[in-house]
Amino acid sequence: MSRSAHPAGPRHADVLPEGHYTAPAADLNVLDPKVWAQTVTRTESGSVSVGGIDVADLAEEFGTPAYFVDEADFRARARAWRTAFGHDADVFYAGKAFLSRAVVRWLHEEGLNLDVCSGGELTTALSAGMPADRIAFHGNNKSVEEITKAIEVGVGRIVLDSFQEIVRVAHIAQSLGKRQRVQIRVTVGVEAHTHEFIATAHEDQKFGIALADGPAAEAVRRALTLDGLELIGIHSHIGSQIFDMAGFEVAARRVVSLLAQVRDEHGVELPEIDLGGGLGIAYTSDDDPREPHEIAKALGEIVTRECEAARLRTPRISVEPGRAIVGPTAFTLYEVGTVKPLEGLRTYVSVDGGMSDNIRTALYDAEYSVALVSRTSDAEPMLVRVVGKHCESGDIVVKDAFLPSDLAPGDLIAVPATGAYCRSMASNYNHALRPPVVAVRDGEARVIVRRETEEDLLRLDVG
Ligand SMILES: *Cc1c(COP(=O)(O)O)cnc(C)c1O
Repeated sequence: MSRSAHPAGPRHADVLPEGHYTAPAADLNVLDPKVWAQTVTRTESGSVSVGGIDVADLAEEFGTPAYFVDEADFRARARAWRTAFGHDADVFYAGKAFLSRAVVRWLHEEGLNLDVCSGGELTTALSAGMPADRIAFHGNNKSVEEITKAIEVGVGRIVLDSFQEIVRVAHIAQSLGKRQRVQIRVTVGVEAHTHEFIATAHEDQKFGIALADGPAAEAVRRALTLDGLELIGIHSHIGSQIFDMAGFEVAARRVVSLLAQVRDEHGVELPEIDLGGGLGIAYTSDDDPREPHEIAKALGEIVTRECEAARLRTPRISVEPGRAIVGPTAFTLYEVGTVKPLEGLRTYVSVDGGMSDNIRTALYDAEYSVALVSRTSDAEPMLVRVVGKHCESGDIVVKDAFLPSDLAPGDLIAVPATGAYCRSMASNYNHALRPPVVAVRDGEARVIVRRETEEDLLRLDVG
């Protein structure tokens, strides 16, 4: 298609509409390794491959839309976290980012532990052979059934989130004749955003028990008196997609001050602290995430320093990265259906998925990048909005990005960094069939979560 086929595709900075986007990369054919999984490369023929397999072949075999996860990259990232934190710390992968049985096996093999926050996640983890004592159970409203199952199977820890839950878990454990290892989740008064954080005295949110003014200390007091509980530590999780370690520093300082208070009051030094997850990844070339070894070093130093100041033994640290492990390892492959230039505005590119496979843009105003992957193009960049096929004008996958102006129906485009919170938040809106997750490694592709079928939809509809 020639340039004149898209008369409205804005070409120059001075004709671009307002919006949050950066200038197009010098060459749209170049894939930024920051946002793409490790083995993704452009081949000599111009198309893109992952794990040694061309995306055109993947699309043909598995259809679109589909998520492709680079297994070698996933394992490498999991291992990097494990190695960075060493033997004095534990890494719990946050299963809510993306969980399947294959992923559980990879984590197990790479020596990681696992966070779950529902009975469904727990069942998935156990069914793939994750030892129960390497599982932590989270959530602000775990049901009696979930708590009972977690204690029966022997999860390594339950993270208590409210006064009622302290009593509930203690009671269930006691009735099962067990003593359950628990942590208490506290809110430390840190609002963490992508590139900044705010330390506040209080936090207005549903999770955890406030540290300020005493509720957390009272929770510890109660937990220590209950026979069904073995209190092993304090848990804090300050947010998500965080780049600035300063928020963790404030959190660690406040958690350690609680440990000191507990020591002074009860003569007990709680042996563990969990600093949660929330470490950011690169969704676009503007993001500069930290490496696991930098994060491990920074957190270790903060905790050691604060404990020395409070004359406490340094507790064992846990962290809970979800996004930072799985996020960058996958991309979503779509086929372009329509290309609609809007005079003076932007060009709408409709793909065969949308908010049913990636709700993050609609939900959080998340930013993503996108690339033409079935071929190269030397056409000039045009400002696009990549949208889905759902009956909702907020059905946006990539809000502002640049694609070559000769983009046409049938082209394959891919959105990188969709490994976390995309398939796990996928829905059946408009009775969409949730896409498969395909693991690619060393020239082999294997479905790890299959595509939903119309029979799946009808099986649930029993009226
Ligand atoms: C969501 C969550 C995580 C993981 O967050 P990421 O942003 O994926 O790293 C870790 N811990 C807790 C308690 C969470 O709720």
